[in-house]
Amino acid sequence: MFSYRTGFVFDERFLAHDTGVEAVVKTRTGTFPVSPESHPSSSFIIQRIKEFLDGTGLTKRMFPIPARMATEDELAVYHTREYIAGIRACVAGGPLKGDWGDVDDETVLSAGSYEAALYAAGGGMNAVSAVLEGQVRNAYALLRPPCHHAMSNQAMGFCIFNNTVIAAHHARSRYGLERIMIVDWDVHHGNGIQDAFYEENGVLFVSLHQQNWYPKLAGELEQVGKGAGVGYTVNIPLPPGTGDRGYRAAFEQLVLPIGRQFRPQLILITAGQDASWLDPLAQMMMTMDGYRTLAALMVDLADEVCDGRLVMLQAGGYSAAYVPYCTVGAVEALADVETGIIDLYAGSAELERSQTILEPQTLDALAAARSWHRQWWKL
Ligand SMILES: [Zn+2]
Repeated sequence: MFSYRTGFVFDERFLAHDTGVEAVVKTRTGTFPVSPESHPSSSFIIQRIKEFLDGTGLTKRMFPIPARMATEDELAVYHTREYIAGIRACVAGGPLKGDWGDVDDETVLSAGSYEAALYAAGGGMNAVSAVLEGQVRNAYALLRPPCHHAMSNQAMGFCIFNNTVIAAHHARSRYGLERIMIVDWDVHHGNGIQDAFYEENGVLFVSLHQQNWYPKLAGELEQVGKGAGVGYTVNIPLPPGTGDRGYRAAFEQLVLPIGRQFRPQLILITAGQDASWLDPLAQMMMTMDGYRTLAALMVDLADEVCDGRLVMLQAGGYSAAYVPYCTVGAVEALADVETGIIDLYAGSAELERSQTILEPQTLDALAAARSWHRQWWKL
């Protein structure tokens, strides 16, 4: 048996992707300066998550998996070689767009960003290798920069290379896997992952996200895949205020039954803890307990269908105060450890509301998703 149940990827080099600060306020006629606030996707948040994992004792209960630099060939399973060169040039001060593609306004690059992005993509692949080679049963990869908005030739939504897509390709090409399930619980739609596998039936992509949110027009129910891939893209748009109970219901009514029918050989989770009730970039009202529950449900599914083989890859999450709690909750379920951490807002009415809310519009959204996806799955 495993001496460690769970592996853990982290590398200080991830933190060299420095997104800086925001120190001006825009008005209709110009801007004025203010005391700087961290960019929403600050390395500070990843650093705090690492400190929470250390402080709760979780890090030392996990098997350390080193990150490594992804090679150009490994990135090129999805990204164009022109784009990879374009990003390298951008980081050295080159233009943010060209024939090679572009970097959107929100995605800040710094001198350390290219190396960090290579290590993040390589770290995701190493986590997959550790699980598929039987070193550990499952793994958490605390990666930075995040990945799921990155397109083949476009950096967008704070993402540069698509770590999840690259990890899934790695599982197929190196280990010959034929069925991989990707569950993206980041509150935004994983448009890059959807794009990468849209015409394939060997990679099942399931995304839960806030409806009509970011990116615009991405993640609608009707986007189901193309050609052989029809039915293997499963979008589950949810209304603001879905909360712990609504998310749990979405897993019980859709994600788990679809997973049991697909029977993946590996599960990847694009784990963005930005559906929390304190997140500045969404309004979904999840709590630490909610994330622990979702992770536990996915661990059970992995036990049932693929000998527990599950890798979580860090995606978004923008509340520096609360994302670390939610991440600890998820990792507790992976590692089957209770750390005794107390929710930052334990006892507050806001927390209780987030844990108990279940609005009619959430039930309606779930019913609509079940009825739609019944075209391809028994639900
Ligand atoms: Zn997100």
